[in-house]
Amino acid sequence: MINIGKEEFKKAYLKKFLEIHGEELGEGNSYKKYEALGNLVKDYVGEKWVETTKKYNNSGEKQIYYFSMEFLLGRLLGDALLNLGIRDVCREALKDLGIDLGELESLEHDQGLGNGGLGRLAACFLDSMASLNIAGHGCGIRYKYGFFEQRIVDDKQVEVSDNWLRDGNLWEKRKQDKKEIVKFGGEVITEEVNGVMKFTHVNYEPILAIPYDTPVVGYEHETINNLRLWSAETVSDEFDFSSFSRGEFLKALEYKNSVEAISQVLYPNDTQYEGKILRLKQQYFFVSAGVQSIIRHYKKHGGKIENLDEKIAIHINDTHPTLAIPELMRILLDEEGLGWEEAWKITTGTISYTNHTILAEALEKWPIDMFKTLLPRIYMIVEEINKRYCQELWNKYIGQWDKISRMAIIADGQVRMAHLAVVGSHSVNGVAKLHTEILKKQEMKDLYYFYPNKFNNKTNGITHRRWLIKSNPQLTRLLKNTIGDGFIKHPTDLIKFEAEVHKKEIQLELAKIKRLNKEKLAKTILNTKGIIIDPDSIFDVQVKRIHAYKRQSLNCLKIMHLYNEILANPNKDMVPRTFIFGGKAAPSYYLAKNTIELINKIANVINNDKRVNEKMKVVFLDNYRVSLAEEIIRATDLSEQISTTTKEASGTSNMKFMMNGALTIATLDGANIEIKDEVGLDNIFIFGLQSQEVLDYYKYGGYSSYEYYRDDQRIRAVIDDLINGRYCSDKERFRPIYDNLITYNDEFFVLKDFDSYIETNSRVDDEFRDLYKWQRKCGINIAHSGIFSSDRTISEYATGIWGSELIYKNL
Ligand SMILES: *Cc1c(COP(=O)(O)O)cnc(C)c1O
Repeated sequence: MINIGKEEFKKAYLKKFLEIHGEELGEGNSYKKYEALGNLVKDYVGEKWVETTKKYNNSGEKQIYYFSMEFLLGRLLGDALLNLGIRDVCREALKDLGIDLGELESLEHDQGLGNGGLGRLAACFLDSMASLNIAGHGCGIRYKYGFFEQRIVDDKQVEVSDNWLRDGNLWEKRKQDKKEIVKFGGEVITEEVNGVMKFTHVNYEPILAIPYDTPVVGYEHETINNLRLWSAETVSDEFDFSSFSRGEFLKALEYKNSVEAISQVLYPNDTQYEGKILRLKQQYFFVSAGVQSIIRHYKKHGGKIENLDEKIAIHINDTHPTLAIPELMRILLDEEGLGWEEAWKITTGTISYTNHTILAEALEKWPIDMFKTLLPRIYMIVEEINKRYCQELWNKYIGQWDKISRMAIIADGQVRMAHLAVVGSHSVNGVAKLHTEILKKQEMKDLYYFYPNKFNNKTNGITHRRWLIKSNPQLTRLLKNTIGDGFIKHPTDLIKFEAEVHKKEIQLELAKIKRLNKEKLAKTILNTKGIIIDPDSIFDVQVKRIHAYKRQSLNCLKIMHLYNEILANPNKDMVPRTFIFGGKAAPSYYLAKNTIELINKIANVINNDKRVNEKMKVVFLDNYRVSLAEEIIRATDLSEQISTTTKEASGTSNMKFMMNGALTIATLDGANIEIKDEVGLDNIFIFGLQSQEVLDYYKYGGYSSYEYYRDDQRIRAVIDDLINGRYCSDKERFRPIYDNLITYNDEFFVLKDFDSYIETNSRVDDEFRDLYKWQRKCGINIAHSGIFSSDRTISEYATGIWGSELIYKNL
């Protein structure tokens, strides 16, 4: 903890302001005030950062590297202040100077280098590793443009590039001297030298990888770990203008641009695989730079290459960084001169893999030709891995060619990254119990039977420091006052709150806090959307990526149906509801963009219909991102987690919501099941198909959405409303959604689940009327949310996957 009083802090801040800006603190220019505060915080962090690094170098403690193509960090200032233990003193000190800390925090541009859940998970894990004093570092790409900014224009999504570095990024530090070279293309010369095969990569194109380091501050500031993001540059970046003719100069510039393109943009697809060569380049670029720098650092501090797997763990977040496996092999074989067997033992001992999805369209497979041309030596190694692995398969499954080719790494002209990831690592984990079971019994059945001991479950989590303590200070205060502050270090201590939740005064307190957060969100909605909403209505929220499997469409049909009901029965007795949506669609995902437009059209019609406005309003909030999520989630009454059962691997926003005292309406999918097991059926609203039913439908068929349309008058009405001009004068506008649900037989069982969803929603309405009972349930959800802290998840990774004595000792 930083020990500093208010007066001292004020002095330090004023001094910093002067130092940075060359002028005294004055009126106006809040951004300058933010910069001064950020730089002051960075000074506090800096000393400890160096100390932590020194400690790691001296102790020989096992180092964990979390490789991820995405880190969705959001804003850093508030969390850094919190983890340094000076957020309150800072707030008070700035207040004396007439500055609002909240305002300064809100000026920071979100660091949005991720699509959604997967990237946010990586960010939560960094926070937990540092807070548990585990030597765990991030490795990824410093995209010049983060995930696109979403604007809603004429009810449609418009993508604007996210130029997040425009005003500078005070948290990062460029480490020119830690650069690496990554080699693309060329050929491999194979020769025998003294009886051993030697492989030399020639005529390659060298790319410079420059690391930018960001400190990851652990709670109470004991440990500062490192997030290292790589940026691509040309090897010789200096242009000598006079030495170029005009043609050559332009060519050189073009070349520079093509190199820098590698770290230019984040691919905006989360669950769709894109077989683009630039994406493969990105993957090898950061993985190669990352592995090279780990080994360089390790050897520099006296590490022996034979012990690498005892001292280093590399974890790959999904298959995107799978090339870490052949890259580590390459270094061990070609640069360190180890034999295959030894190199393979070290590599598999070092690497572990998390699977994130069973959606077939998300599985990465690279065409052999593309792979081989771009990465000739890496391809040779993958070929050899495949050859040896298939030999083992052959020994066990003699003559079963179909099975072997199904299980192979290379087949049908493609390299299957998921198979490479399983074969080349010692641990494969799913992200929730159901997901892991489906992996073992279904998606990766053959691989599971071949390697039963590699497979394990690690249910996802979220950092309660950002998602509760920082984003919901009022609730945090209530918790501290009732159960003490033990839950900050031991989130499962939140269970103590269960003994309090039957008390009327606690229920009232919870209601008061929720109401306060709802008022704040209502203000934001008025300011940004111009829509007036009622803070006493139920805030019914679905915020997440827009995707058919997440079924925003089901929510839409519910709202359309409710609208019909109120018009038919103006005296319908119901609690007013505000339906809030947020989320980005992949720019190329037509159906998802159509869904966004539908939500906005529904909102236009309903919000302008005086006959129903007392009872319902619909809001689509633009540009859903981490900072907006923090504001929305704490203000939510009802959390919508309504994916088609089996399709959401885990979900993490479900956990954020429960921790902030929202009740969940959910299918038995992903981690919703574990939330239900924690809080009990009385404290969650469960509906819809069960996983076995869904799996059977996919396997045996037998579902006809048309029958539901034909037989259920409520469904017929809302489906017809999609194409009769009710919500858009262009009747064909929502034909894609209509076709998806009717013509193409509703792949995600929206109509099948409609009835039980509607029925469950009316139960929500009933329950909400009893404020005390509702808040008791919210309290039970909060009390049981501790096991969904990523501190629990990371402890499990540390002991179950990365295992080392030092890590055990730390926990
Ligand atoms: C938590 C989070 C997600 C993941 O949400 P799911 O509902 O689990 O898909 C996506 N985006 C942001 C900004 C988040 O904070």
